[in-house]
Amino acid sequence: MTARFDVLVVGAGPAGLAAAQAAASHGARVGLLDAQPRPGGQVWRHDVRKQAPRAAVAAMQQTAAAGVEFLAQHQVVAAEPHGLLVETPQGARHVHYGALILASGARELLLPFPGWTLPGITGAGGLQALVKQGWPIAGKRVAVAGTGPLLLAAAATLRAHGAQVLGIFEQAPAAAVNAFARQLLHWPARAVQAISLRARLAGVPYRFGSIVRSAHGSEHDNHKLCAIEIEDTRGRHRLECDHLAVGYGLLPNVELAQLLGCALAYGTPEYASAHPHVIVDGLLRTSVADVYAAGEACGIGGLAAARVEGLIAGHAAAGATDAAIALQPRRAKERRFAALLAKHFALDSRVHDLAAPQTMICRCEDVSLSALDGFIDARAAKLATRCGMGACQGRICGSALAEIGRFTRSGARPPLFPIRLSTLAQAEVAPPLSDEYRGH
Ligand SMILES: Cc1cc2nc3c(=O)[nH]c(=O)nc-3n(C[C@H](O)[C@H](O)[C@H](O)COP(=O)(O)OP(=O)(O)OC[C@H]3O[C@@H](n4cnc5c(N)ncnc54)[C@H](O)[C@@H]3O)c2cc1C
Repeated sequence: MTARFDVLVVGAGPAGLAAAQAAASHGARVGLLDAQPRPGGQVWRHDVRKQAPRAAVAAMQQTAAAGVEFLAQHQVVAAEPHGLLVETPQGARHVHYGALILASGARELLLPFPGWTLPGITGAGGLQALVKQGWPIAGKRVAVAGTGPLLLAAAATLRAHGAQVLGIFEQAPAAAVNAFARQLLHWPARAVQAISLRARLAGVPYRFGSIVRSAHGSEHDNHKLCAIEIEDTRGRHRLECDHLAVGYGLLPNVELAQLLGCALAYGTPEYASAHPHVIVDGLLRTSVADVYAAGEACGIGGLAAARVEGLIAGHAAAGATDAAIALQPRRAKERRFAALLAKHFALDSRVHDLAAPQTMICRCEDVSLSALDGFIDARAAKLATRCGMGACQGRICGSALAEIGRFTRSGARPPLFPIRLSTLAQAEVAPPLSDEYRGH
């Protein structure tokens, strides 16, 4: 089955929704696809207990009213000469385009530490997403840890669903977080959001310079998490809990951009990063003709940056350059906020040394840190140990190893996700197979 659009948008988060609506407003035939069953992306993920925020409802209504065709549960798995190979619950599809906008968002950075694979431990945004979709958390004792404002948002969601949030353990020092808070005066909407989050978390301790060193499971309850060891300015102490939600910030999803050959960069002149983002110009064009990128894929910038970038990319992809240029000052302002976040929540070097030699690094394939000794790069380690060959295709362990300075990230290869063989059989050009399909 083949479909064709003037403008195709990958990712129906805030950036993709804005891009689709902007492109459609110029009369383009627009397709908006997402692996998820509903639009909204991460921040506007459907919550079984709560109505979507007004801005989310408006964005979804505007997109539908503009005549955008939403392709739900469409996961892009490979790039083809004239389009994308997409897997759906019904089978494979080829989706062709005149212009393509990548709004593939971000994922959490998870860093391994002793005990991090115990049942009861998830990413901070990961637990937030599970709970929004109905995971029972009421009455559970939850510690939230890692770094960045997402910890507050996750903790507020968990509390709203009845969790007993024991504390938020932020790795950044108090001085950095306070300096960040002072800067919020230049972004009044952000300041209001932060105050409202703190109000929703009244009574929950917010500790700085705090790192979860290890997690411990109960011998009487299937090794489920029962306690964590936290290191802070006062030393180390133990905290009993049922869940730990721990995430060390976000990193851009660039794998599809990589497959398409888009140029990537690591960090900016102001801050270095172990994780690449897509390079774009003022009209959000990537280095590949007719391919644009918007939102977190261009570097972690938050909701407001994602929305304005979506608009710019949508206008530009539909040929409305003036409308795109008019939004550039707004984008520049939001990107300044992103730089502020990166600076004040930079990772403390202590979090790079959390894993012990026997700590599991690749949880899909049970590979420990010491099993990677002696390999010169990620690919050599992968071929010999299967590290990164499991269901997540290295999205977790590969990013963690890059962050701790062990290996740089290896390039993306099709298929981007594990897929059915019937989908692979329908590829227009047989993609070079990933190692696991070759039976290594
Ligand atoms: C787990 C998590 C929780 C978050 N929670 C909050 C929060 O509570 N508050 C907040 O302000 N910010 C939150 N953020 C940050 C938030 O992601 C951004 O600020 C904002 O949503 C970015 O919008 P976006 O459109 O760029 O990306 P996203 O919202 O991430 O949307 C990207 C979309 O692309 C889709 N996609 C990616 N690759 C493919 C593919 N190959 N095929 C098909 N579809 C694909 C994804 O399914 C997703 O729906 C969270 C981030 C994460 C990772």
